Amino acid sequence: MLKKIAELEEKASREIEEAKNMEEIKALKVRYFGKKGALTALLRRMGELAPEQRPLAGKKAHDLRNKLEELLDRKEEKLREAALAARWEEERIDVTLPGAPFNLGRKHPLTMVLEEITGIFTGLGFQVARGPEIESDYYNFEALNIPPDHPARDMQDSFYFSPKILLRTHTSPVQIRTMELQAPRLPVRIIVPGKVYRRDDDATHSPMFHQVEGLAVDRGVTFADLKGTLLLFAREMFDQGQRIRLRPSFFPFTEPSAEVDIACIICRGEGCRVCGQSGWLEILGCGMVHPRVLEVSGYDPEDVTGFAFGMGVERIAMLKYGIDDLRLLFSNDLRFLRQFR
Ligand SMILES: [Zn+2]
Repeated sequence: MLKKIAELEEKASREIEEAKNMEEIKALKVRYFGKKGALTALLRRMGELAPEQRPLAGKKAHDLRNKLEELLDRKEEKLREAALAARWEEERIDVTLPGAPFNLGRKHPLTMVLEEITGIFTGLGFQVARGPEIESDYYNFEALNIPPDHPARDMQDSFYFSPKILLRTHTSPVQIRTMELQAPRLPVRIIVPGKVYRRDDDATHSPMFHQVEGLAVDRGVTFADLKGTLLLFAREMFDQGQRIRLRPSFFPFTEPSAEVDIACIICRGEGCRVCGQSGWLEILGCGMVHPRVLEVSGYDPEDVTGFAFGMGVERIAMLKYGIDDLRLLFSNDLRFLRQFR
């Protein structure tokens, strides 16, 4: 019996020492201390011994049990520490490493130009007004003195939902909407930034683009006020030495009407590829508000006058930043967008 105990001690000690994980420890506990375990069986057989052998064998067997329990406890502790150390190693963070860079967004070049334009005009006392992008034929065309046979009403040029409802083709309807609400109070001084839609898609046209509309109505507003306002705008927007040129033009809702050019910002009027050798770049259209437009909006054309202008924001941005393809503004290419701050 004593020999058996010694053998068991030797074998169990070695197995416990060699255990590699908690599962093996668990299996060893079953193997030695379980109902059918080797140590359990040994203790059970104490009764078979002669009475004089029992005290010594019994003591040895109980010592063995205590020893194995202690070995198992110590091994378990060791394995737990090893697992923890491995986890520490795995999750270790070097706090001296540089942090993950925080990507700060920036404004889209169109947003920057739009804000700059509105900033210049609000500085002159204009207020920002807005209107719906889904517009009725009345506000988009009829009230702006655009007759039913005008080519702008062509299905090929506009996005129609129905014969009377369309995506607005310009920000001009907001002129009418604002005057209708405000009449007969004076003055009207608004700036209208917004999206407009036309059936165009190439290097210089997009089906959706941005306009800024301006309108000033009061007693005694003259063409000179319009020209002075636009000259100031051109100088604030491009450079303080900027010159402008007004060319006679036609718009149904202004009379007289003009196209406004600025001296080419590339060649400064000398003539180059960008300005087509003319020395001038067109930036907007303008004119004195047509008497009929004032009338349908609730103002007396005999009493008040006004001027209006409208510009394409993409065109201004392209000129200001020297962008040669309009589609760059809408393609969300970060290499392009990151150049603007
Ligand atoms: Zn030029």
